[in-house]
Amino acid sequence: MNGTIERTANGGKGKRYRLDKPELLAPAGSLEKLKIAVHYGADAVYIGGQKYGLRSNADNFSFEEMREGVEFAARYGAKVFVATNIYAHQEDLEGIEEYLRRLEEVGISAIIAADPIIVETAMRVAPGLEVHLSTQQSTMNWQAVDYWKQEGLPRVVLARETSMEEIREMKERVDIELEVFIHGAMCSSVSGRCVLSNHFTDRDSNRGGCCQSCRWKYDLHEGGVSVMEEGDNPFTMGSKDLCMIKHVPDLIEAGVDSFKIEGRMKSIHYVASVVNAYRQAIDSYMADPQRYELNPAWVEEIGKAANRPLNTGFFYSTPGAEEHIYEAEEKPAPYDFAALVLDYDESTGIATVQQRSPFRPGMEVEFFGPGGRSFKQKLGELTDEQGNPLDAARHPLQAIKLRTDHPVERLDLMRKRIM
Ligand code: SF4
Repeated sequence: MNGTIERTANGGKGKRYRLDKPELLAPAGSLEKLKIAVHYGADAVYIGGQKYGLRSNADNFSFEEMREGVEFAARYGAKVFVATNIYAHQEDLEGIEEYLRRLEEVGISAIIAADPIIVETAMRVAPGLEVHLSTQQSTMNWQAVDYWKQEGLPRVVLARETSMEEIREMKERVDIELEVFIHGAMCSSVSGRCVLSNHFTDRDSNRGGCCQSCRWKYDLHEGGVSVMEEGDNPFTMGSKDLCMIKHVPDLIEAGVDSFKIEGRMKSIHYVASVVNAYRQAIDSYMADPQRYELNPAWVEEIGKAANRPLNTGFFYSTPGAEEHIYEAEEKPAPYDFAALVLDYDESTGIATVQQRSPFRPGMEVEFFGPGGRSFKQKLGELTDEQGNPLDAARHPLQAIKLRTDHPVERLDLMRKRIM
């Protein structure tokens, strides 16, 4: 990564080791999300291919898109990983060798695998691919981590149910990279061990089909009779989302090698905001650990793109009843993604943006970019690409020209407040 520092680990108890800057690993459910994640500072992204991944509803990548994504990421020094973490039925294995060879050939750096046959096959037929053990294996103790190291794997993605203390012990006992989920949705069951979706909809969670049945709204019945009373809210089984932005120093000092953000199905607004916040927090800590302070703007940035209740998962204690979402607490995010910057002409101060939701002259919007760059802008005249004035930007994906008070960059985003 981008440099190393030395500091005293374990809260200053005396042991010193060399800390490399941890990797920030972002989800990329499409080529556009990949570019946004990398532009906003991700060191690596994970994507799904057409087969073997756990997000069958994401815009999974063709080999051509993977090649383009790898080339784009390489310009920023970033890597691309591919999730191949299904538990395979016999029929799933047909063509696996060819698929893995193609991943290697298009320049993928690593696969994330759970099923031992996929792990073994990748190591045998595509030795240029690193194999990272998926969180689907539910690894939570150092002996299991050591087992996978002996099997030749350079990295284990831990179960979300692992505690900070267990991570510290793993790093002290086993010389291996640890990848840890630090932000995003949690499963209310033990991650990867849930068949709610299979049961209700015949969509297999372990083959990429989870329909998030835990977040549906349920009435309670007993003996076939509703026990809901007037005024009762429907019941959900969802869990609060994980957010570790306030605990970045703890994660780095515990030795976490890769900070993983969940959410290949999330919007580019979400990916940009979350990556932006963690990028700044990690860089700020690594630049000067002793004087590091949490910047409230990072927390605010995350809140602009998502509005689910948050917690710290299993890092500090086992979540109790209060960490469940019993009622429908989900609210819309306060901001909506309005446009993507395609181009900026410094000589005229005119930006060309691509519409993603309607906006009009006189509206106040916010432009933001990597590194926490942002400014509010009252929109003036809007024109189409031929210079014809528009009373509103109504059409999805239409290219619109507008003047900005400050320079913007390609792939910056424009958002509008909706609450
Ligand atoms: S239904 Fe909910 S708990 Fe089960 S796998 Fe899907 S997200 Fe996880």
